[in-house]
Amino acid sequence: MTIKVTFPDGAARDYPRGTTGTTIVESISKSLAKKTVAMRWNGVLSDLSDAPEADGKIEFVTRDSGSKDVLELIRHDAAHVLAEAVQELWPTTQVTIGPVIENGFYYDFKRDEPFSEEDFPAIEKKMAEIINRGAAFSKEIWTRDQAKDFFATRGEAFKVELVDAIPADQSLKMYKQGQWIDLCRGPHMRTVKDVGTAFKLTKVAGAYWRGDSNNPVLSRIYGTAFATREELDAYLHMVEEAEKRDHRKIGQEMDLYHFQSEAQGSVFWHPKGFVLFNQMEAYIRRRLDKAGYQEVKTPQLMSSKFWEQSGHWGKYRENMFVVPDEVPGTEDEGPVLSGTGELMALKPMNCPAHVQIFNQGIKSYRDLPLRMAEFGCCHRNEAHGALHGLMRVRQMTQDDAHIFCREDQIQSETEHFVHLLYSVYGHMGFDNVVIKLATRPENFGGTIERWDAAEKALGDALRATGYDFEIAEGEGAFYAPKLEFHLKDAIGRSWQVGTLQLDYVLPERLDATYVAEDGTRHFAVMLHRAILGSLERFIGMLIENYAGRMPMWLAPTQVVVATIVSEADEYAEKLVSQLKAAGIRVELDVRNQKINYKVREHSVGKVPLMFVVGKREAEEGTVSVRRLGTEGQKVEPFMDALVALMAEATPPDLKEKAT
Ligand SMILES: [Zn+2]
Ligand SMILES: [Zn+2]
Repeated sequence: MTIKVTFPDGAARDYPRGTTGTTIVESISKSLAKKTVAMRWNGVLSDLSDAPEADGKIEFVTRDSGSKDVLELIRHDAAHVLAEAVQELWPTTQVTIGPVIENGFYYDFKRDEPFSEEDFPAIEKKMAEIINRGAAFSKEIWTRDQAKDFFATRGEAFKVELVDAIPADQSLKMYKQGQWIDLCRGPHMRTVKDVGTAFKLTKVAGAYWRGDSNNPVLSRIYGTAFATREELDAYLHMVEEAEKRDHRKIGQEMDLYHFQSEAQGSVFWHPKGFVLFNQMEAYIRRRLDKAGYQEVKTPQLMSSKFWEQSGHWGKYRENMFVVPDEVPGTEDEGPVLSGTGELMALKPMNCPAHVQIFNQGIKSYRDLPLRMAEFGCCHRNEAHGALHGLMRVRQMTQDDAHIFCREDQIQSETEHFVHLLYSVYGHMGFDNVVIKLATRPENFGGTIERWDAAEKALGDALRATGYDFEIAEGEGAFYAPKLEFHLKDAIGRSWQVGTLQLDYVLPERLDATYVAEDGTRHFAVMLHRAILGSLERFIGMLIENYAGRMPMWLAPTQVVVATIVSEADEYAEKLVSQLKAAGIRVELDVRNQKINYKVREHSVGKVPLMFVVGKREAEEGTVSVRRLGTEGQKVEPFMDALVALMAEATPPDLKEKAT
């Protein structure tokens, strides 16, 4: 009996049934076989040692391909090697699970004394030793009882629990590398040697078994691995750079904002931080105004009835802050609330409220598209542990807008939006934008015809803009496709920022209709779209992208006028009032401190410019200009420096208008 194997180039060959992937690749080319570590059989990532039973398509996964597959395999295998190394060094340690995660992998161990980073050199050395021994991965199929006995006799209580959780009729895969064996879904590469040398343990943390705080605490070791040393080094450099740029640290140095435990996940914006926030908001407001949007403001607190109608109560309630509509009791002893008041919720999003405004009065086809914008302050009940500085907050301000339009306007509105978004990102300093069109998922609502038409409209709009885009197959929302916009920052990290979500459902739920040309009523189509997403997060991202060195138009303080001697105080004060009159955000520093001290302090605060003045400058009407991040200074007539600064401080959209 033979099976027909089809190769990526379309060629096909017959092989005896029972031929392994290894043999197949060797029959093609010895050099290809040398670097092939796994295969995709009919699209499924598989062990190269598997022997296909029927006709199918084969793709070889080579170690040097740089693909996501290879990275996952390397990291998964590295996790196994880590576990083997730990048990070889500390035999009484119990193993649990060790998945691949973004940027690496971890393994959770049960050990009386938790691991510390001081253990890393020994573990890494042992891992290298194991990799060098080069044991092959081999797969065995066991019954559940076999596996249970095996782990029970070894005192691996957690593994026994894992085996128990697998349905009785399923067989189990056990992967062996030398003497070490683990329950695993696989697949794996050929041998542990394929892991290579580009791996590193990165940190330790405590973690509850199965994420449940009633369970024992495990010791989690994180690591990462790459195909090459160069890639690992580049990654480690990026992590180091990201730490230096951490917006939480820089935000404090720049005195922008703080958090405190009494208001978890909600920002206390300080004066300087709020200048930045307001600059961003003003900029977006100007852009939306020019792009034909109308700004609105909607209630923060709305009845649960309203959220039931919109569907959020059913699907989204666990993320909402729910409060009773009741006057609380004031007696010390009595209950604060009786619990009988109607339930209200802080809005987690603005969409249903915008529909209420749309629904005021009858809309005709001539009123569409109607672009409704709001700097919507939304609350989402994120777990405390999930909060992360400005990046993940509970109270956020979205640059939200909804476009109500006809079906035949989806394409032009999308195109219009994408141009606006690119222009905004460009002004913020981001040129590297990746667009993804997220298409119909397996579970979807509505008809295929409508999905096809919607995907085509979004795709055509993107093609018309001339920007490249990727298809994110099956990643659309349940009810309609969407566009995602990802930005690459200065150190190569990718951030999903903008979105455009098509929506037929909400207008139907909330009865948002318009009168068509023929006098019949139609449901409007809604486009939920955001460019920055949340202002908080975007500002966090900007801080990290620029390492706090904001472009002049966004800098909270644009210039400090600092004196060298007190004789220049009066001159400095005069300059400050002239700068203020010109609309420049300026601070005066006439403290009795050495100029080097002042320079150091303002550079920690990331002030882009300093005008240093002494006796000579006062006499000559000049300033010594010092720019953040550069050595030395340049003496200029004050007026020249002022004019140059005014030009530099002009927001980019207003600059364009001027030229
Ligand atoms: Zn595994
Ligand atoms: Zn929305």
